[in-house]
Amino acid sequence: MPGRSPSDVIKREVREASAYTLKYLEADVKLDQNENPREIPDSLKRKIMARFGELGWRQYPEFTPSRMTAAISRFTGWPADGILVGNGSNELILAALVATAAPGKTVAMPQPTFTVYRLLASAMGATIREAPLRADMTFDVERLREAGRDSDVLIVCSPNNPTGTFLPAADLSRILASARGLVIVDEAYHEFSRQSAAPLLERFDNLIVLRTFSKAMAIAGLRFGYMLASPGIAREVNKVKLPYNVNVFTLTAAEVLIDASGEMEGSIRAVIEDRERLKAALDVRPGVEAFPSAANFVLFRTAHPAGEVFERLYENGVLVRDVSGYPMLERSLRVSVGTAGENARFLEALDDALEALDAQG
Ligand code: PMP
Repeated sequence: MPGRSPSDVIKREVREASAYTLKYLEADVKLDQNENPREIPDSLKRKIMARFGELGWRQYPEFTPSRMTAAISRFTGWPADGILVGNGSNELILAALVATAAPGKTVAMPQPTFTVYRLLASAMGATIREAPLRADMTFDVERLREAGRDSDVLIVCSPNNPTGTFLPAADLSRILASARGLVIVDEAYHEFSRQSAAPLLERFDNLIVLRTFSKAMAIAGLRFGYMLASPGIAREVNKVKLPYNVNVFTLTAAEVLIDASGEMEGSIRAVIEDRERLKAALDVRPGVEAFPSAANFVLFRTAHPAGEVFERLYENGVLVRDVSGYPMLERSLRVSVGTAGENARFLEALDDALEALDAQG
């Protein structure tokens, strides 16, 4: 590029954005990414591997993955022409925003929430409108309704990452009824709340529901997510989604998991029970404030700088997420629900960390 620097070419919105990154750290107890602490059963892994061995690898996947959308249609009860699949649900967030966000359009979201929404919508030149959560981390429904009335797209993550907050269906219906444009509900963690926005799809053709197999379904490494929407919306978003975006291995694994979804129930129940135990254990610790969660993680705050608590935990082999850089989350950390043993190690390490930091004064 003679005479030009990359910054002449890269959009201002992108240059000004901070990257969504995660430092990859090894730890004995890894509770920083809201993964399922349990692998899928070995019997299912063997079934997936056997099916994979029989597939042709030479050819592209089906252009429209109709076997998969039919399987998801059976799984969710929503018609196949309103279903899109993605290489993780992140890809479908991107596709939905490519189809809608542009200069002159407004994309709204609560804050704090999953940072990818804001990053992508601003990179596409959209105006961002934020609806802060209340101080107790619950959704402010009136603010969300106002935001929905004034925006082209409203994205609500429920249960919300990183707070665990859940938006009840009655509140969501009111938001949908008065929204000027689309309402995207990111349900990456819905299995742990035992509730879903999907039944509202029948009534509201401006609703998009996004889901993932990275959390409750325990295949984050294989990257699979899907979108449920009215067929008209799905058709438009499909135009800007990359072709062949989900590879045959992932399609095979997801199909096996859909057929055996009952087998995942035990691990979901264990996470929900362990989440409640973890929250109760945090609640009784002096100086710790934990927030109610409908997801597979718990947000908590201590009297000390989050970075220092993080470092002490990490020195003890426990990795959590320091979320103190989010708006409203000063001194806050997010811990994913692990196995009972991992949660116990986290609590022990937290006690040590807080004792040492209290002693420091
Ligand atoms: N939405 C939310 C709220 C998330 O927390 C995540 C992952 N951390 C995703 C979407 C993306 O998940 P994936 O791309 O793995 O489906």
